[in-house]
Amino acid sequence: MNRTLALALAMIGAFSWAWWTAQTPAPLKEYAAPTVFSAGRAMIDNRVIARTPHPIGSPANAVVRDYLMQRMAAMGLDPEVQSLDALRRVNRSPTPMVTGGHVENLIGVLPGKSRTAPALAIMVHYDSVPGSPGAADDAAGVSAALEVMRLIRTQGTPERDVILLITDGEEAGLLGAEGFFANHPLAKHIGFVINMETRGGGGAAQMFQTGSDNGQVIKLFAQGAVRPSSSSLAVYLYEHMPNDTDFTVSKAAGITGLNFAFIGRQFDYHSPTSTSDNLDKGSLQHMGDQAFSAAKAIAFSATLPSKSPNLVYANTFGSHILAYPQMMGWALLAAIGLCIALGVQTARRAGVFRWSEVARGTGGAVYLLLTSAAVFHLARKATGAGHGFFEQRYLLAQVNRWEIALALLGTALVIYAANATATGRSRYIAAALASLTGVLSCAFGFDLLGLGLGLGGGLVALIAFGRPAGITGAWTGVLGTAFLAALVGQIIAPPITFLIAWPLALAALLVLSVEWVIAAAPG
Ligand SMILES: [Zn+2]
Repeated sequence: MNRTLALALAMIGAFSWAWWTAQTPAPLKEYAAPTVFSAGRAMIDNRVIARTPHPIGSPANAVVRDYLMQRMAAMGLDPEVQSLDALRRVNRSPTPMVTGGHVENLIGVLPGKSRTAPALAIMVHYDSVPGSPGAADDAAGVSAALEVMRLIRTQGTPERDVILLITDGEEAGLLGAEGFFANHPLAKHIGFVINMETRGGGGAAQMFQTGSDNGQVIKLFAQGAVRPSSSSLAVYLYEHMPNDTDFTVSKAAGITGLNFAFIGRQFDYHSPTSTSDNLDKGSLQHMGDQAFSAAKAIAFSATLPSKSPNLVYANTFGSHILAYPQMMGWALLAAIGLCIALGVQTARRAGVFRWSEVARGTGGAVYLLLTSAAVFHLARKATGAGHGFFEQRYLLAQVNRWEIALALLGTALVIYAANATATGRSRYIAAALASLTGVLSCAFGFDLLGLGLGLGGGLVALIAFGRPAGITGAWTGVLGTAFLAALVGQIIAPPITFLIAWPLALAALLVLSVEWVIAAAPG
C-alpha cells in the first residue's frame, strides 16, 4: 500500500513538473517598468502589423513597411529600405529549384561605442503568408524586436553597433535575408544574429538553433538569459529537419547567433486565425525576455563569444541550464558504470545477488523497449501518422494529446513490465500482448518492422518472465540495459544522450545508496 502511494505521488510529481516547465510567463502590461520587456507594449505594434494579411509585394505589405520605417525613425535608428530583386536556390531533392521576387528589407542602426567592432543584428521578417494576418509569424518577432531595440537604448550606448534587420519575402523562400547577406555592405559588419520566428501561435519559446561550435554561445545564453529555454536535443532535432528560417542564410554566411521560436497552437499558424487577439501573449513575453537578455549581453560586451566545441545541455529545474562539453558525457558514463559496479559488489557481499536475476531484469527492460516501440509503431499506423508525410499541422496540433497518451501508456508499460519481472506471473499474457500489438500492425498491410518488434517482445517475455526475480538482480539488469543504450547514444548522437544518462545517473546513485543502507542494517 505504501509503495503504491509512493508511486502515485512520484507520478503526480513528474507530470506536474512536466506541465509546469511548459508554462509561459505572465505577459507584462503596457505600463510595466520601462527597463523590462513588456508583451503589452509589443502588442501595440503587433496589432498594427497584423491588421490584415500582408504577403510580399502586396499593398498591405507596403503599409506595414511604411509603419515600421516610421517606428524605426522615431527610435533614432536612421532606417533605410534595401530594395532589390532577390533569388534563392533551394537544394531540395529530388528537384532543386530557384525562387525569386522583389523584396524591400528595412535596416536601422543603433551606433555603438566602437563602430568597427562586429555588430549585433536583431533579425525578424515583416511579410506574412497570403491569407493570414501573421500576428504570430512573424509580427510577434517584429513587435518583440522593436521592444528589444527600445530596451537596448534605455541601457546607454552599446559597445557595438546594434542593427535591426526586418527582412521581406521570408515566406516566399528567405528572399529578403538572401538579398541582404549577398548584397548589403552591412552584412560583412555583422558578428552575431538574434533571430525571432514562430512556428505556431503559442507555447513556450525555445532557443532551437545556433551557429557551429556553439560552446561559448550556449554558456552566454545559459548564464545571461532571463528564463532561458533550450536543449542540445532541440538543436539536434532541428538540424535534422527540413525547415528553414532567415537564420539559415546568416548561418550559411558563417555568422553565429541564437534563433528563437514557439510552436504551440498549430491552428493559429499561417492561418486566417493568426490574429493579434489569438496570439499567446505569454509566448511573446517568453521570447522577448530571452531575446532581450541575450541581446543585452552581446551588445554591451567588449568581445563576442568565440568558437568553442559544442556543449550538451538542457533545462534542469525551471530556468536552470546544465551544460558540459560532449567529451564529459564519457566521464558521466564512467561514473554511472562505477555506481552500478559498486552496487553489484555490495549486493554480492550481502548474498542477495544472482546472475539469473540480472538476466530476468535485462529481459524485463528489453521487453519494455520492444513492446513500447511496437505500441508506438502501431499507434502511428492506426492514426495515419505512419503512412507518410501529408500535413504536419494536424499532427502537431495534437502534440499535447500525443504527449499525454504516450506518457500514460509508457508509465503503464513500465509498471507492467516491472511487475511481470518481479512476480514472474503473467508470462503468457505479456507475450500475447506484445505479439498481438505486432500482428495488429499488419492490419494495414504486411509490416515487418511492427511484426518483428511485437513478436520480439513476446519472445523475450516467454524467456525472461516465469519465475520471480529478486529486486537487486532485476534492477542491475534494468540499469545495465539503460547503460548500454547510453553507451550507444554517446557514440552515435552525444548531444541527445543526456536524455538517458541524466535519469540513469540519478537511478544508479539511488539504487547504490539503498543497497548501502540495506547492507549496513543489522541482520
Ligand atoms: Zn516566419
